[in-house]
Formats: sequence, C-alpha cells, structure tokens
Amino acid sequence: MRYSVFSLIREGLTGHAGWPRAWRNPDPKPAYDAVVIGGGGHGLATAYYLAKEHGMTRIAVLEKGWIGGGNSGRNTTIIRSNYLFDESAAIYNHALNLWKGLGRELNFNIMMSHRGVLNLAHDEHEGRQLKRRVEANRLNGVDAEWLDARQVKEFCPVINISQQIRYPVMGATLQRSGGVNRHDAVVWGYARAADAMGVDIVQQCEVTGIRVEAGAVTGVETTRGFIRTPKVACVTAGHTSVIAAMVGLKLPIQSHPLQALVSEPIKPLVPCVIMSNAVHVYVSQSDKGELVIGAGIDAHNSYTQRGSIDIIEHQMASLCELLPVVSRLKMMRQWGGIVDTCPDASPIISKTPVKGFYINGGWGTGGWKATPGSGHVFAWTVAKDEPHPIAAPFALERFYTGALVAEHGAAAVAH
Ligand SMILES: Cc1cc2nc3c(=O)[nH]c(=O)nc-3n(C[C@H](O)[C@H](O)[C@H](O)COP(=O)(O)OP(=O)(O)OC[C@H]3O[C@@H](n4cnc5c(N)ncnc54)[C@H](O)[C@@H]3O)c2cc1C
Repeated sequence: MRYSVFSLIREGLTGHAGWPRAWRNPDPKPAYDAVVIGGGGHGLATAYYLAKEHGMTRIAVLEKGWIGGGNSGRNTTIIRSNYLFDESAAIYNHALNLWKGLGRELNFNIMMSHRGVLNLAHDEHEGRQLKRRVEANRLNGVDAEWLDARQVKEFCPVINISQQIRYPVMGATLQRSGGVNRHDAVVWGYARAADAMGVDIVQQCEVTGIRVEAGAVTGVETTRGFIRTPKVACVTAGHTSVIAAMVGLKLPIQSHPLQALVSEPIKPLVPCVIMSNAVHVYVSQSDKGELVIGAGIDAHNSYTQRGSIDIIEHQMASLCELLPVVSRLKMMRQWGGIVDTCPDASPIISKTPVKGFYINGGWGTGGWKATPGSGHVFAWTVAKDEPHPIAAPFALERFYTGALVAEHGAAAVAH
C-alpha cells in the first residue's frame, strides 16, 4: 500500500484495520546471490540499492537482533557534510544529496529537517582551522559559511556568547543544509522498500561463522542454519572486526562505547544543531521537544552498549556553559552504542583479499549522516566487484599505502 494522505484518511475512518505489514518476516532460504550481515541503516540501504540499482533481489539481510537495534536506533541523527578532505566531502555530500529526496523515494516520512548545523570556535586557533574548513568545503561544493559571535547569537539566540566564560564563543561555521531526521523511520523506510522488491529481512539470525573455500566465500553459518552465498557484505558497526576475524582478517579498528541522552520535553528553544569540539558537547531539539545531547566516546574499548558516568558529568557541565538557560532541566533517558573507529577517523568501504567478502564499517561516531550514500556506493562495490569511484579512497589498501583520509578535526565530538 502506498502511504499518502488519502490512505491515512481512509484508515482513520475505518479504524486503522487495513494497514498491511510494512515488511515480511521470512525464514532464511538455503541460498542467496548475496547476504548482507547487519540490519542497521547502512545494511538495509545496501540491500535496497542492490535490488533497485543492480537488479539483485535474491538477497537477504541477516540481523542478530531487531533491525535498527544497533547504532542506527541509538544515534543523535545529526547530518552534515562539512568534512575537510575532498574524499570525505564527496561521500558525505553524496549522502546529503540522497537524504534530500529520500522520504519521497521510500514513500516514508523520515522527518528530514535541514535546520542548519553550527560548529563553534572557542579560541583563535580553532577559528582559523574552521575558517580554513569553510574554504575547503566551498571548493568542494559543500555549503558552508563563517559566522562571528554576534551572527551566531542572531542565528541561535539561546547560545551564551558572553566573553566572561571559560571558553567564550568566538564564531562558528554554519552548514545550512545540515540537520537531523528520524532514525527509526529511515531504517523502517529502507526495510519496507527493500522488502517490496523481494529482499528477505531476517531478524533474530546471528552470523556465527563464514565459510571460505579456495580463498572465496561460499556461505555463512547462522543461528538459523547454514546459508550458501558467493557474496557476503559485512555492515555491522561496532562488530566489524569480529565479523572480519571470521575470514581471518585483522582490521585496524577499535570499538568504543558512545552514549547520548535526552531531556524532558520543552517548548522550541534550540532552532539548529549546536556542536562544540572544544567544550565537547553537542545538542539539538527533537520534534517532541526533548533536547538530544551527545558527547565524545569512552576512552576504553568495549562491546557493552552503555557509557560511563564521567562522560555525562563533563557533557552536562559543558552544556550548562553553552546554554545556561537549561541548567535546571531534568534528563529522561540515557543509552549507549558501540562505534568502530579507524585510526584516520574515516570509514572502510572495501573489497578484501577474500573473494566475495566486502566490508562497510569503521564509521566511528559519525556514520548516520552517510547512511544513504554509504549504502549506495557499497551496493555498487558488492554488485560489480569493483570499488565505486567515491568509495575507492576508503579501501583497505590505504592502511598499507599510507594514503589515509585523516578527518579527526572534522569528526571528533562533532558527529
Ligand atoms: C550515541 C550515538 C550517537 C551517534 N550520533 C551520530 C550522529 O549524530 N550523526 C552521525 O552521523 N552518526 C552518529 N552516530 C554513529 C552512527 O549511529 C553509526 O555510524 C551508524 O548508525 C552505523 O550504522 P550501521 O547500519 O552501520 O550500524 P548499526 O545500526 O549498528 O547496524 C549494525 C547491525 O549489525 C548487527 N550485527 C552485529 N553483529 C552481527 C552478527 N554477527 N550477525 C547478524 N547481525 C549482526 C547489529 O545487531 C546491528 O543491528 C552515533 C552513534 C552513537 C552510538
């Protein structure tokens, strides 16, 4: 059924009894042309574009829990493309362009809101670095501008620009096309659209091993039996290195907890996304009115989906400094995810030395914004067995050649 205002009215008048299931709940088949491991946004987007653009519909997405239960359902949904290097601008801008029409394409309201993203500068060095990034962004067709402190206040009146505080706001970059969306809706929208093209989305199905014969993938062992396939696409943020180890690959990835929290709902107060690398906090306001607040990763490696108290303490102190008006707000919920980080703070989208085994991971703290672009270029890589031109710089080879895409300045706390 197409979702529209007419179907909404019809169902509203008939007791909402006619809505069909958004996607099937199939048992896994014995064989597929390709298997995607991981039912997050990236995995489902990969399956969607494999079916839509490469005609591969005999495929399955295998998810050990429920779709969107990983980082896709745990992130703070910040979207922007103002990274420093050409390679990053290409992939994140590709994603941003896809986000713009995605709700219509998937026939699912993903609540995309291009409300603008501010990256604050708190000292002259940071200001210089951010101004340089604005110039680099413009050369790459990324919309970016520099605001001084007064202009920051005009754009986002709630920010404290007093020069008497510990880290006074000296200015900010603004990407007006950046913003937020609804992560569950993106996951569900991709799942529904992929399912409609015949993709099997199999939940509660953990991949426990990968069979390799003569250097090529022949199938996956799962908690629901063996599945034959010549192509395995690993899209398991947080567990990328665990899956890669199943084919004997050791990746330069570390997994860390990353947490976020939301406040009680309040009236509209924060009109854009505010990020600060220096004081290490970022905040936006959800459509329900909650402030959605994030910070940096826990320093230690872990696979637990929860973060440490000291991060929250620091995060709250920073928030109160930036927005003193919220200092008496109550916090409602806190949660964590596991992010897999590469040494250069850039992702891996790559073929591997094992024929038929492909990796899309290492997005660290900031992969949500890339979801459609990542799925799109990874589907190409899997279908054609050659890297999409936008994905090529993110191949595994860069860790041997040294051609790293070092994005720590643009990644950091700033998701
Ligand atoms: C607190 C937090 C805030 C964040 N904020 C932002 C943000 O504001 N902006 C941004 O751009 N990014 C953000 N991120 C990062 C972003 O969420 C991730 O980069 C992105 O969602 C990764 O998507 P994914 O589909 O690859 O991973 P996931 O959604 O984690 O999906 C991977 C799936 O693989 C499954 N899986 C793992 N092992 C197996 C197995 N053996 N068999 C079968 N399935 C398996 C998992 O269950 C999981 O569902 C944030 C992350 C966190 C944790």
